[in-house]
Amino acid sequence: MTAPVVVLGGGVVGLCTAYYLAEAGLDVEVVERRGLGSGVSRGNAGWICLSHSTPVPAPGVVRYALRSLGRPDSPLYLRPLPDPAFVRWLWRFWRSSTPAVFRRGYAAIAELNRTTFDLFDGLREAGVDTTLTRPGMVHAFLSPAEARHHLAVQREMADGRYPLPDDVTTGAEARLLDDALSPGVRAAYLVEGEGVVDPEAFAHGLGQALAAAGVKVHENTEAVGFRNAGGQVTAIRTDLGEIPCSSVVIAAGMRSMRLLGALGHPLPLQAGKGYSFSVDLDPAPRHTLYFGERRAVASPIGGTTRIGGTMELSGNNNRLDWRRVVAVALASRHYLGRWFDDPDDLVGLIRDPWVGGRPFLPDGLPVIDRVPGHTNAYVATGHGMLGVTLGPVTGHRLTEYVVTGRRPATLEPFRFDRLRR
Ligand SMILES: Cc1cc2nc3c(=O)[nH]c(=O)nc-3n(C[C@H](O)[C@H](O)[C@H](O)COP(=O)(O)OP(=O)(O)OC[C@H]3O[C@@H](n4cnc5c(N)ncnc54)[C@H](O)[C@@H]3O)c2cc1C
Repeated sequence: MTAPVVVLGGGVVGLCTAYYLAEAGLDVEVVERRGLGSGVSRGNAGWICLSHSTPVPAPGVVRYALRSLGRPDSPLYLRPLPDPAFVRWLWRFWRSSTPAVFRRGYAAIAELNRTTFDLFDGLREAGVDTTLTRPGMVHAFLSPAEARHHLAVQREMADGRYPLPDDVTTGAEARLLDDALSPGVRAAYLVEGEGVVDPEAFAHGLGQALAAAGVKVHENTEAVGFRNAGGQVTAIRTDLGEIPCSSVVIAAGMRSMRLLGALGHPLPLQAGKGYSFSVDLDPAPRHTLYFGERRAVASPIGGTTRIGGTMELSGNNNRLDWRRVVAVALASRHYLGRWFDDPDDLVGLIRDPWVGGRPFLPDGLPVIDRVPGHTNAYVATGHGMLGVTLGPVTGHRLTEYVVTGRRPATLEPFRFDRLRR
């Protein structure tokens, strides 16, 4: 009997990978240190989208981040840390924010993303409760000039891969695109067909599909290292004993860093912390909403509205800073109207305030590749703001790599060794 392929991490990326590996007929096991979908795959905004394929290191973003120094209400908040790894990461992030690198990154993600909705259809047809709906996404702005600039950039980057409107709707008509928008919104446009899932329910649906496919899931089990022989991983060391494997896929989000370190190939991951909470609004948004100037979002999830935002680079921790929750709520008020008067009222109004660390590599792209120096170890992490959207396509392409031993062309931009240059 051959040993199973073991996937480390039961977030959306690991679960999708395990799903496609099992679908390909391989014997698969999943190791998850807590519960399935309990990491950053839990409280996110659930967008499944083509029109937000942008890597975070974009032209101008460093200037924007520097202006945020000491301002915890800024959408992008940088707290300088006396840590050489953090400084090195920032330096590489800055080097990646040139127009040319940004364009290349955007095109690579957009290309990878091309089959995303087809894969979601396939999951649904196979009986996975993805919870996907496609209400479309309204991009809302306080200034028409900002909206036009945003649409122009998207149009150039989309390069015909998905439909965009010809122009923005301005003035009083802008807010008619979604009933929840306030009169403060002076320009908006709708990207039709963009989707949203309930991320907790999606992870649960994938977990059920894995169980039905006979995949063994080890919850509350932490991978702590590996047994190696001649460039091959032969077993996973966990806090509850060893699990033999024929191959391993490291999809442990932020904690992939430690596991890759144990294989001698650490990756420079930093947490891009984001916040969310749920609130009942009347009227509630029907679409997913992007609040342009304030870089916050709202999603209709599970019969309520989830509001989220911020990108906080303040080290690899999951500390919830209430000031950032208030900052997201205040940002949303510009677009949704005065749904609360006093920030002190928020405690009673909102549910499930949540913080999660998006796994970020300094060039903003994920790594989906074989681990250097190992014939049977693979990694899928660093999905940043797009892990839910890119989960299925990551798992699908990586399965192709594991099964054939050849890297699919669409994974070329997501190689491990690009980060060593
Ligand atoms: C506020 C916010 C909003 C977002 N909105 C969106 C959105 O709308 N659309 C979108 O596409 N993305 C969004 N994201 C990003 C998205 O949430 C992430 O990119 C994605 O969830 C990453 O998934 P993952 O599986 O890599 O990581 P995780 O979900 O963190 O999964 C990793 C798993 O590995 C487990 N693990 C770690 N170490 C070990 C170990 N040693 N042994 C065993 N198990 C281990 C963890 O417990 C965890 O469950 C958002 C993020 C935030 C913070």
